[in-house]
Amino acid sequence: MFAAARDIALPVVRALGSALADALWPARCAGCDLPGTLLCPACRRDLALVDQSEACPRCGAPDGLHGCAECCRSEFTFASARCAGILEWPLSRMVTLHKDAAELRLTALLARLLADAAGEWCDWAQAVVGVPASPGAFARRGFDHGALLAAEFAHVTGVPALEVLRALPRRDQRQLSRESRGTNAGASIGYLRPTPVPSRILVLDDVMTTGATMEAAACALMSAGAGEVRGLAVARACGGRL
Ligand SMILES: [Zn+2]
Ligand SMILES: [Zn+2]
Repeated sequence: MFAAARDIALPVVRALGSALADALWPARCAGCDLPGTLLCPACRRDLALVDQSEACPRCGAPDGLHGCAECCRSEFTFASARCAGILEWPLSRMVTLHKDAAELRLTALLARLLADAAGEWCDWAQAVVGVPASPGAFARRGFDHGALLAAEFAHVTGVPALEVLRALPRRDQRQLSRESRGTNAGASIGYLRPTPVPSRILVLDDVMTTGATMEAAACALMSAGAGEVRGLAVARACGGRL
């Protein structure tokens, strides 16, 4: 009875919240600031989306299917990764506005991009887990963007979202060099016991740069009993080595 009432009420609350937000803070295109939309058709066409059929099956780098310079010297705990697009304008600004300017109406758009990139992985996955925000980032922003993305991804795809990871205190990744990020992220994510985890898990993050954060999450989930973890990111920062 309660579940039925909740299923009816949640869409109403979502719609009211969205209408209120639109009235108080009219939407603007994340790419060009055009009023009345979160992403105008022209900027949507400019999204540098990754063709998954040509991407590296290990790390998700674009055009890496037949050889990937990004990950050729790396070993991963996650079995595979996909990235929806390349971290270039306007996707880069969508990510920044969502995370650092609290434009949370972009959550649905970003989750849709993740769902499109995931494709058949949505039938494979038994759960989706967002990479947890660090305590410092959570205190600064007031929300956990990874948890929001995972919840919306679950809403779009039907894959259940689990909150079973916690971020351990660490320095903000953005303040570190690429070389330092791996060490910093490696010890940054723990597992919230005693929540059981299913065997097949998707881990979500907004940006994949070195893969270190994804790797830390995968390690935590595998040590908690997961059988296979796959990574999924909104945007890939290219040009480095994983
Ligand atoms: Zn635009
Ligand atoms: Zn690769």
